[in-house]
Amino acid sequence: MRTRAAAVAAALTLLAVAGCSGDSSRRPVSGPSAGAATAGPGTAADTSCDPRASRRPSGALPKPGAMPAGSHMRAIQDRGRLIIGTSQDTLLFSSRNPFTGKIEGFDVDMGRQIAEAIFGNPDKIQIRVIGYDERVEAVDAENPVDIVADTMTATCSRWKDVDFSSIYYEAGQKVLVSSTSDARSLDDLAGRSVCAAEGSTSFDTIAAARSKPIAVARPGFGACLVAFQRNEVDAISTDDTILAGLAAQDPYAKVVGLPLTQEPYGLAISNKHPEFTRFVNAVLEKNRANGTWKRTYERWLGDVGPAAPRPPVARYRD
Ligand code: GLU
Repeated sequence: MRTRAAAVAAALTLLAVAGCSGDSSRRPVSGPSAGAATAGPGTAADTSCDPRASRRPSGALPKPGAMPAGSHMRAIQDRGRLIIGTSQDTLLFSSRNPFTGKIEGFDVDMGRQIAEAIFGNPDKIQIRVIGYDERVEAVDAENPVDIVADTMTATCSRWKDVDFSSIYYEAGQKVLVSSTSDARSLDDLAGRSVCAAEGSTSFDTIAAARSKPIAVARPGFGACLVAFQRNEVDAISTDDTILAGLAAQDPYAKVVGLPLTQEPYGLAISNKHPEFTRFVNAVLEKNRANGTWKRTYERWLGDVGPAAPRPPVARYRD
C-alpha cells in the first residue's frame, strides 16, 4: 500500500504511477492513447504583460514592530494581526490539520513569514477561508484580507484588478483520472466531464481545450474530488500541486501527462497599497536568500517534488 508521501510523489511526477488496483465501479474513461498537451488559455498564452513581474522592493526592510507611519504595514501592525485569505482543503498548500484544527501548508507559511516580518511573530495571523472565485475581490472587499495566499496564478487579467507579489512557486496544470483510465491528457477526454473550481484558471483551460471536454465547475477542488468519487465527473484538472494533494486522498486516482500550462503563484494584494507589495517582495527576497524558502519547500513538498529546487527568481516591473 502506498504511503501518503508516495501517493503525492506519484502525482507530482510527469508520468504517474498506477500502483493500485482499479475501481471497477467508476465509469471508464476511454480515448486515444497518450497525446500531446492541449494548449489552453493559461498564463503562457496571455502576453499582454509579464505576469511574473512585480513591484521592486524599496530599500532595507523596516525592523519588525517598527513599520513606517502611514504604510499599510503599519495599519496591519496596529491591528495586531495579518489577515490571510486562503482555502481549507488544499492539502500541502492550505488545509485544516484534523489534529490541531489549524490550517497549514506552503501557502499558509508564506503568510506566516510576512507576519514575522511585520510583528516578529509568525503566529500573528488571522486566516479567512475564501472560495477560489473570491480571491481577486477578497483584497478589496468591504472587509478585506491583506493577502491572498491560495495557489493563485499571477495572470495579466488578474493584474488589472490586484497586485501580485513576485512569484513564490511555479506550478503547471495536469489531469487526474481513474487509475484504470487510458487517458493521458485533456486531448483524450473529448466529450468527458472534467471538474475544476469556479474562478480557477484551470476551468478556463478545460473550457477552451481543442478536444472539447465538458468543463464542470465546483466551488473548490475538495468538491471536485467528491464529484469524481461519486462518478459525477470523469476527471479533475488543475495545478499539479493541488492534484498531488487530491491523489494522496484517493488510491484509485492517478495524475497523468505533461504540464498543460504554466501557473506561477503570487500572493495577491490590493493595488491600493503598492508599498505593501514592495514590502512583501523584500520579505520574499530575504527568505529566498537565507534558506527559508528552501526549508518551507522541504517541509511541505520535500518528499514529493524534485530535490533541492531553486526558488523562482524574482522579476520586477518597476
Ligand atoms: N492556480 C489556479 C488559479 O489561480 C488555481 C487552480 C486552478 O486553476 O485549477 O486559478
